[in-house]
Amino acid sequence: MKKTHKYIFVLGGVMSGVGKGVTTASIGTILQSKGFKVSLIKADPYLNVDAGTMNPTEHGEVFVMNSGLETDQDMGNYERFLGMELPPENYMTNGMVFKHIIDKERALGYGGKCVEPVFHVTEEILRRINASVKKLNPDVTIVEIGGTVGEYQNAIFIETARILKLRHPHDVMFVMVSYLPVPGNLGEMKSKPTQNAVRQLNSYGVNPDIIIARSHMPLDLKRKQKIADSCGLLPESVISAPDIESIYQVPVNFEKDGLSKIILKFFGLAPRQKDLKEWRAMLEKVRNAKKEVRIGIVGKYFDTGDFILSDAYISVIEAIKFSATAQGVKAKIDWLNAKDFEKGKDVAMLQSYDGILIPGGFGESGIEGKLKAIQYARENNIPYFGLCYGMQLMVIEYARNVLGLKDANTAEINPKSSALVIDIMPDQKKKLAEGNYGGSMRLGTYKAKLKKDTVAQKAYGKNIIEERHRHRYEVNPEFIDRIQEAGLVFSGTSPDGTLMEIAELPRDIHPFFLGTQFHPEFLARPLSPHPLFTEFIKASLVFKEKRPKPIAVPASLLTT
Ligand code: GLN
Repeated sequence: MKKTHKYIFVLGGVMSGVGKGVTTASIGTILQSKGFKVSLIKADPYLNVDAGTMNPTEHGEVFVMNSGLETDQDMGNYERFLGMELPPENYMTNGMVFKHIIDKERALGYGGKCVEPVFHVTEEILRRINASVKKLNPDVTIVEIGGTVGEYQNAIFIETARILKLRHPHDVMFVMVSYLPVPGNLGEMKSKPTQNAVRQLNSYGVNPDIIIARSHMPLDLKRKQKIADSCGLLPESVISAPDIESIYQVPVNFEKDGLSKIILKFFGLAPRQKDLKEWRAMLEKVRNAKKEVRIGIVGKYFDTGDFILSDAYISVIEAIKFSATAQGVKAKIDWLNAKDFEKGKDVAMLQSYDGILIPGGFGESGIEGKLKAIQYARENNIPYFGLCYGMQLMVIEYARNVLGLKDANTAEINPKSSALVIDIMPDQKKKLAEGNYGGSMRLGTYKAKLKKDTVAQKAYGKNIIEERHRHRYEVNPEFIDRIQEAGLVFSGTSPDGTLMEIAELPRDIHPFFLGTQFHPEFLARPLSPHPLFTEFIKASLVFKEKRPKPIAVPASLLTT
């Protein structure tokens, strides 16, 4: 019998920001654990052709895929939950879809036809979903539609889903992630906004088959029944999704309410295997971790509050946590504003951290503060991990303070510097001169070769690696020899040896002082942490143990 593909569309009701992405990823994880091959697609309503041009303080992290496509942070959650790498076909924006259609129309690709939103746009969206199905050949494809039901801008995706359902009534399912507020003055969970959201969805000709009821507390039976009655589904299809500590508990929580049973029954499928075994073991490890490792992240996206801040660095945070969990400890992460060190905050406060990390970034702001932090970590043997910009700045700091090139800088900040140790890549210069900014950096997966017996090579346990990139600048070849003679080792380079991919100090000089031109955080997974993050956490734990403990004063000496 020919295999029929199953599709689940995940839509948001009531309001955004309640965890549609995590819900989508969790449904994927559950089905995967039942033995099905799962694929996850994100359809975003905005007109940007990709997420690369968006400010992380407004939109969260830009997640880079193997292909180099710059996407929404939800794609990161998808890859982390599924533990797999997804192709570019699994991400689309209205901008991407419209651009394709308009370019085709300008090239007479529609043979004189009137090009219309419903049909040509919906068919183009279906073509993209189909291309993903063809590429991965999954059993189930889950498509998350960005935004909330009732918005003008995501309507075309919902219309597309409706058309697919019409063509394959038994193979398409709708899940609505809704929100049930508990107003402080009432202390009671209200279901009316959910009922209204379902009405909105009904006006598109769609009814949800499952409602994920997000709230800060679990849903009681009475409310399940009420939502079921008013929204036209069975009470067991209303899944309770209370706030929880870690997003990785969501699949287990959904299963408590029997989510996979409902989905498999709908599609007429039988589970092929049991359980979320490895997943549960990982959660158990998180629960049992008592000891802490304190990591200070010195960054700059601090201006819009904690919520957005952690969104801007989500892959870095998750990567730290995965490696900490694997070492049986809890990561306590503090945000340190680089600009504060410029304004006179004493860098010696870094002494209280077990490890310091500087993530990727762009532009001038906070740079001198970050350089001070790197110098302090280097001179005081505090483990330091630099990602992309964090590696470039590490090279600048070394050039300034060890080589004595006081003017050392990156062309991104001061192209007139007399010691441009970080310079723009030649092909990038041309792109910028042409005003070609979107999707034009050195993006996606590249191979690198590692030098034998270095910290990096030992951590990876192999000689050739593949990692994801997103940058325009690189270590200037003119300075490589001088930097290495002064002791900093380029332990990873492009296979032809021209691009510097990893810089480090040898173990006998510093316990861990390492930076990568690539973004290892994009490949860290809960069930397979990234080796470099793990090495950083291990070094941080050793540093923590070695740090002189405050001397306990005997009670007899205390004056009362
Ligand atoms: N701004 C630097 C560059 O373009 C680093 C980029 C990054 O950290 N992702 O090379």
